[in-house]
Amino acid sequence: MEVFGSSGVRGIALEELRPADAMAVAQAAGAEFAADADRVAVGRDTRETGELLAGAASSGLASVGCGVDRLGVVPTPSLQAYCEREGVPGLMVTASHNPPEYNGIKLCGSDGVELTLETLERIEQRLDADPELVPWDETGEVARVDGVNRRYRAELLEAVDRERIAGAGLTVALDPGHGAGALTSPEFFRQLGCRVVTVNAQPDGHFPGRRPEPVAANLADLGRLVRAADADVGIAHDGDADRAIFFDERGEFVEGDAALAALAAAELGTGDVVVSAVNASQRLVDVADAAGAELRLTPIGSTHIITAIRKFTAEGASIPVAGEGNGGVIFPEYRTARDGAYTAARFCELLADQPASEVVAAYDGYHNVRHNVGYETDAQREAMIDAIEAAAAAAEAPADTIDGYRLNYDDAWVLARPSGTEPVIRVYAEAADADRAADLADRLLERIEDAKRSVA
Ligand code: MG
Repeated sequence: MEVFGSSGVRGIALEELRPADAMAVAQAAGAEFAADADRVAVGRDTRETGELLAGAASSGLASVGCGVDRLGVVPTPSLQAYCEREGVPGLMVTASHNPPEYNGIKLCGSDGVELTLETLERIEQRLDADPELVPWDETGEVARVDGVNRRYRAELLEAVDRERIAGAGLTVALDPGHGAGALTSPEFFRQLGCRVVTVNAQPDGHFPGRRPEPVAANLADLGRLVRAADADVGIAHDGDADRAIFFDERGEFVEGDAALAALAAAELGTGDVVVSAVNASQRLVDVADAAGAELRLTPIGSTHIITAIRKFTAEGASIPVAGEGNGGVIFPEYRTARDGAYTAARFCELLADQPASEVVAAYDGYHNVRHNVGYETDAQREAMIDAIEAAAAAAEAPADTIDGYRLNYDDAWVLARPSGTEPVIRVYAEAADADRAADLADRLLERIEDAKRSVA
């Protein structure tokens, strides 16, 4: 059984993720945690089903003997900060960027970092057996903990270059998207000395102003707010505020890949390693090359990136920055976890010297293409993957095979991989030259479609 996908447990609340499921996951996790923790922190984002699922999870934890610290509505990074500070593992009820009807569960260890894949596998195995309930007089105590977000903000203020940001005299337009970041980011940026204007900044599980995913199509209001308020930067979070996406001072959407490249360029030095997923932008390739740093790729998803950071750090690598172009950036010296407010503050540090549009200007000129080819049968899928493999073998470019096939040319790359969630092969390409990107994708696409037809 694969319960934990690349982003934890996720599904439509009360259909795919029922209270009984939340309880069962909490019981299995609690039994695993019990070896070295007698308490577990439980937080949730602003979703309508958050309180009832957090209640079910808390009951599950108490029933296997774990004390429960109920943190209430917190961003995932606020829960992780609490876990690290208190040395307790954590359970977060959130569906991150998914639509309002979804919910999910993420787990982290007592270091505030996502659990390892090995620990998640052990928890999955426990789910196959009946939970080991404790006697009635050994159940865990459930206690409410107040002030968690205030402590999180105070720690954030210490972690960033406060004087530099305050000195820049920034006006920040903020769109927490009705998510948990509404409780922390507006006040945090005010405390940083910024003038703050907001949109969608009331916590609301119906997400009336926009959907939780911080993509350009959902963020037109933020672009307008940047222009109307003459702001220096726009910042948007997803539902649990572990991601940050930006607008420049003209109200133009900044591609997540461009922001990641700008943040990485400021961090990377010779001999450093930067970790990203296999669809990493050419922008990041170029930034790493220019810095004399090494880009290492993982399968897509933050769990894989965090696993790789742990592994390479243990091997002695220096990894100042990692992440994906979806706004999920990791600064391992701060915490090996994504944090939307911290990422946004680090971006604001870059604005002390030049406007946002100039910070990202060097990373503007790239073109991405993306296609999906559907399949109906396993035989088709196999033939399509064989065709990709043959194309990779014949290409005059080194191939990364960590998640599908990524062919790295000097000026461009093309990637083909089977989707983890849908019956499609995804083809991506990127180059500074639009025709070059389209041509690379089309040539691979043609071979994949030929292979599909050959077994139809
Ligand atoms: Mg998230």
